[in-house]
Amino acid sequence: MNNIYDFKQNVKKSELDQIVKIINSGGIIVFPTETVYGIGADATRDDAVKKIFIAKGRPQDNPLIVHISNYNMLEKVTTDIGDIERRLMEKFWPGPLTIILKSNNNVSKLVTAGLSTVGVRMPGNDIALKIIGACNTPIAAPSANVSGKPSGTKLEDIYDELKGKVDAFVDGGETDIGIESTVVKVENSVVKILRPGKISLEDIEDLGIKVTLDEHVFKDVKHDEKVESPGMKHRHYAPNTKTILIEFDKDNIMVDKVDKYIKENPSLKIAIVCFKEHSIYYINKNIKCIEMGSVNNQLEISRNIFSILRFIDKLDVDVCLIEGMKKEYIGTAIMNRLIRACEYNIL
Ligand code: AMP
Ligand code: MG
Repeated sequence: MNNIYDFKQNVKKSELDQIVKIINSGGIIVFPTETVYGIGADATRDDAVKKIFIAKGRPQDNPLIVHISNYNMLEKVTTDIGDIERRLMEKFWPGPLTIILKSNNNVSKLVTAGLSTVGVRMPGNDIALKIIGACNTPIAAPSANVSGKPSGTKLEDIYDELKGKVDAFVDGGETDIGIESTVVKVENSVVKILRPGKISLEDIEDLGIKVTLDEHVFKDVKHDEKVESPGMKHRHYAPNTKTILIEFDKDNIMVDKVDKYIKENPSLKIAIVCFKEHSIYYINKNIKCIEMGSVNNQLEISRNIFSILRFIDKLDVDVCLIEGMKKEYIGTAIMNRLIRACEYNIL
């Protein structure tokens, strides 16, 4: 693998300088955050940001999140921060929370997709913070993957699809959280979650702030429908293999649904992505079984899920069933991704 900077153990000053040179001359890099890997460029340069859209094949109407490493940089992108936004920053930054703020038009119009707002976050990952700080400019970065595919949580998963399309890869090992940041917007003193993530509705409610989930979090969005977070309407996270989501329920009900599907489709090669605790039920069913983590450990599942979605295409099956989980805490975010990955096929 070429152009790879291995920052897993430590960030070497001489190599960091090379990364800074790439960004400051309008180049783009793959780098780790605590959520997923990003493809980063100087958010203030049209020429650089344009390269991100080309590398990903990303639709132009889908805005990018701007990553900052300190509060001085925040002033470069917005001047309008309300009390609730400030409280969210104090509590959750650096961390996996993106806040939609009024843009002061200092970032490229391509970043905001022409909207008057800008999504901003301070990532909770040392390597990311060091890179952004050293470049001394806000970094626009969508998830590192070709548009429509699952986001990258380790370099090995995305290297092949992005090699030759970016100027460098920074390896920080596997990401901690594994799914993208929570995206929120504050309206009339209510926090609206446009995209759920590790920072959950419950976490925000604990601050004594009113929170709602945008109606599109679990709903299919028609192509011409107006949505607040344009990313919601695009095909997302889907393996090439047909996938079907099993709604969370009592153990025996979930297992029976799978059993029934297997019996009704004797000619299909079937795989199941399931809770560790359920694999014992599927062992004798003559289907491939991939454990996603424990039913009692949502964070373990969130770390694994995108890698598993990519792995499904290597299984050589006709259909892959995926066990769903409770829509609470980070489970809400995992289900938001799985429903889209399964293109709304639910059993
Ligand atoms: P990704 O970069 O792939 O993690 O996707 C970024 C997400 O943030 C997409 O769902 C975007 O629609 C959303 N987003 C970014 N900026 C804004 C904005 N200004 N207003 C609403 N949503 C935004
Ligand atoms: Mg993405």
